[in-house]
Amino acid sequence: MTAVRRLPIPVAALVQPPEIEGAACRHADPDLFFPTRREATDAGREQTEAQTAKSICRSCPARTACLVTSITMGEWEGIWGGHTPSERRALVRDGMAMRRDVSQLVHSLERGIRFPLRPNDFLAVIHELTLRRWSAEKLADALGVRVETVVQARVRARLAAAVLTAMEAPDRSERAAA
Ligand code: SF4
Repeated sequence: MTAVRRLPIPVAALVQPPEIEGAACRHADPDLFFPTRREATDAGREQTEAQTAKSICRSCPARTACLVTSITMGEWEGIWGGHTPSERRALVRDGMAMRRDVSQLVHSLERGIRFPLRPNDFLAVIHELTLRRWSAEKLADALGVRVETVVQARVRARLAAAVLTAMEAPDRSERAAA
């Protein structure tokens, strides 16, 4: 099972100290991070292992670096940075959507004008106004959503922005989009 041995070794090679010192998977069973491709009857086990791997990633200080590394390296197997392959692809899509120019929307919101946001604009607007130091409460009030929704969107927007930044680095965009 060569592929199974790809974690955490690539992480150790690619993530810089001091993060790697505390990488939560250093002593974990690498099989947990590649739970797919067993027999169909193992679907339950596959899901359990994926959840176990995700729970290990949750406390890992290298989580964002690991996630971004997997995407920029074109690694579409296994659990990296607490994300499955499909979750990583969704983050790439979010990062692409965050390229949209939302300056007019942001300007209107800053002037107190309220309107429903299209889903494709949501993360970009949350990210931009967070950078402008809007609190979660203020954002929730302006966008007509719950504070918890804003908090979750902020985390997702931060990750998607990190992915986008890494993808736009020279020589990386082709591999990430492949
Ligand atoms: S985020 Fe998960 S897979 Fe990545 S280094 Fe940390 S524990 Fe390992």
